[in-house]
Amino acid sequence: MPPNADPQAPDRTATARSAPWRCPKCQAPRDAFRTEAAQWTCSSCGTAYPVLLDKPFLLHPDNPIRDYFIEHIGKSAGSAPKSGKGKFKSLFPTPPQRVWTRSCLRAVTRILRENDPASSGKVVMNIGSGTDGVYQKLYAPYPDLLRVGLPLDGRIDAFGDAMDFPLQDNSVDLVLSSSVLEHIEDVERSVADQFRLLKPGGLVYAEIPFLRAWHMEPVDYQRYTWSGIEKLFARHGFETVERGICSGPFTAWALFVQDFLIGMAPGASKFPVRILASWLLHPWKFLDRLVENAPWARKVACNFYFVGRKPAKA
Ligand SMILES: [Zn+2]
Repeated sequence: MPPNADPQAPDRTATARSAPWRCPKCQAPRDAFRTEAAQWTCSSCGTAYPVLLDKPFLLHPDNPIRDYFIEHIGKSAGSAPKSGKGKFKSLFPTPPQRVWTRSCLRAVTRILRENDPASSGKVVMNIGSGTDGVYQKLYAPYPDLLRVGLPLDGRIDAFGDAMDFPLQDNSVDLVLSSSVLEHIEDVERSVADQFRLLKPGGLVYAEIPFLRAWHMEPVDYQRYTWSGIEKLFARHGFETVERGICSGPFTAWALFVQDFLIGMAPGASKFPVRILASWLLHPWKFLDRLVENAPWARKVACNFYFVGRKPAKA
C-alpha cells in the first residue's frame, strides 16, 4: 500500500485485476497481462506498463502525454505534509461549487441501481476519480465501480487516457462522467472510444457545463449547449435516453458573480473574498430546484446531464 493510500478505502486490487482491461498497444485482452507489483507486462506484444501509486499505468508507449504523467504522478499526492498556507486554507472550507437538480440526482441514482456491478456482474466505469462530495455519496454503495483516468493523486483503479481507454470493445455496461468532458482535448475521440467500449445496449451518463467560467486553465477546452450535447453523442452513434439540467441558472449566476468578485479583488484579498462570496452566494443556487423543468432555464443553465444508449443492434 503506498504511503498516501486511504486506509478506509476497500482493497481495490481484486476489482482492478478482474476488469476487462486491454493492452493499449496491441489490444490483447486482460489475460495477456502478466501482473507484478512493479509493472504489468503484455505477453502478446512485450510492452511493460509501470505500476504507479499501486495502480497500473495503461497508456500507449507512444502517447505524447505519457512522460508528463509518469513524472508528475505521486509528486502532488498526499505524502508531503500540508504547507502552512494549505493548513490555513483547510480551516476555512468553501461550500460545494454546484447544487444538483432533483431530476439529475434521480436519473443517476436510478441508472446506478439498474447497473449495480455487485448484483449482476455488470461493469460500471467512472471517468476520473469521482471525489466530488455528491459522487462520494452516490458511489458509496458500489465499491466495485471502476475508476479510470489521470488524476495526479491516483485515486483510480488504473491510469488511462480518456481518448484511448485501456478497455476491451463491448465490455462495459455504463460509463459515467461529471464535469470531465470539457477537460478532454479531443472530446470527439473520447466519445467515440466510450461508444467502442460499451456493450450493445450500454449506457453513457455525462454531466457537461454550458455556462461556467474557464477553470483548471489551460486544461479546459469546450462548452456545449442543450442541443449541442445531443449532437455530440449522436455523431458517434448514441441514442438519447434522457437529458436535463444538472445545475441550473441560479448556480450559473452565483458562480459567475463569485468568479467576477474574486477576479477583481486585489492580490491578498482574493482569499477572504472567495470565502465570503462563496458562502453568501451558495443559498441562491437552491432556487434551481424551482425552475429545473422550465424550458427557459435551459438557455442560461450552468450544467446539463445527458443519458445516451449504444443501440442494442449497432
Ligand atoms: Zn500488448
